Amino acid sequence: MNAPVDRSALTQRLLAQAYGLGFDAAGIARLGEPATRAAFDDWLGQGYQAGMTYLGGQGAALRADARLPHAGATHAILLAASYGAREPTGPVARYARGDDYHEALRERVRALHHWLEQELGHAVNARPYVDSGPVLERDLAQRAGLGWFGKNTMLITPRAGSFVFLASLFVELDLEPSAPFETDRCGSCTRCLDACPTGALREARVLDANLCISYLTIEHRDTIAEPLRPLVGGLLYGCDICNDVCPWNVKFAQEIAFEEFRPREMFAESYDREGTRALAREILMMGPADYATAFRGSAMKRAKLWMLQRNACVVLGNVGTEEDLAVLEAMLEHEHEIVREHARWAIKKM
Ligand code: SF4
Ligand code: SF4
Repeated sequence: MNAPVDRSALTQRLLAQAYGLGFDAAGIARLGEPATRAAFDDWLGQGYQAGMTYLGGQGAALRADARLPHAGATHAILLAASYGAREPTGPVARYARGDDYHEALRERVRALHHWLEQELGHAVNARPYVDSGPVLERDLAQRAGLGWFGKNTMLITPRAGSFVFLASLFVELDLEPSAPFETDRCGSCTRCLDACPTGALREARVLDANLCISYLTIEHRDTIAEPLRPLVGGLLYGCDICNDVCPWNVKFAQEIAFEEFRPREMFAESYDREGTRALAREILMMGPADYATAFRGSAMKRAKLWMLQRNACVVLGNVGTEEDLAVLEAMLEHEHEIVREHARWAIKKM
């Protein structure tokens, strides 16, 4: 039989360990029905998930109760890690400039699990989640006291703003829940809603992915609707606009938590218009082998090469000059009709 544990002391040591591992924020939530479940169902009902059909169906059923995804789990340790609020904005969203965050974070969450087992002297039924399982992580993070839901739909943490990755360790262990973060610190601010170029923030905390540049340039495996293309501007992969304008990201910005999230060399010169054009051209000139080498272990591999090339055509159509015409013209012979069509659009627009 295991010796009795002082759960409050254990929880404090566990959270201290999480900070020691480099996380910017940590807290504990008791698992149950998410407070945002009705809003999430409503969001799905509106079709605002666009082509991310995995968010509905069986996934939605498991998200309805946080005790369901991992059998036996009663609590979750919620963790946030900064990925670069102090980095300049650019054509690639900050979260994707370094190595793929999934494995980097999972490794640290596993280290926390290992510490817990060592500390208790016995195995603990647990499972790490990093933006992967049917888990409403932001709901749990708010409940674990990490921050509040901004009107831009992001979790805003007073410790590091909203440029943070969320990770969690679901455990079958009686830990002391943290105080939820109940205050809405957005107040009367509407900067994110006003700044969104496509109107994807239909109202405060309601994002229509069909219009969102992040969705269109990362997840969408089809043609980008023509009226939306000029609004994409120079964004090649993802969009940070509604985070960039948030005053809390200035106030709470932290250094990048883990080395793996540092921007790769290929983005070093990409932040201005010239650099954006150069990066777009580089992507258009890539073949499958170049793509595999350039993006090995990168979160940008979420998009196939043809999708990046589709995006690069849109970017050059918006911010390119005559110097970019040759590479766009080469795309008229691309094997993928969608890339050919976006190249035609870009040339015409220029
Ligand atoms: S990520 Fe960009 S397009 Fe999407 S809601 Fe925010 S500002 Fe709008
Ligand atoms: S920009 Fe303003 S309204 Fe939007 S999330 Fe930040 S504080 Fe809230």
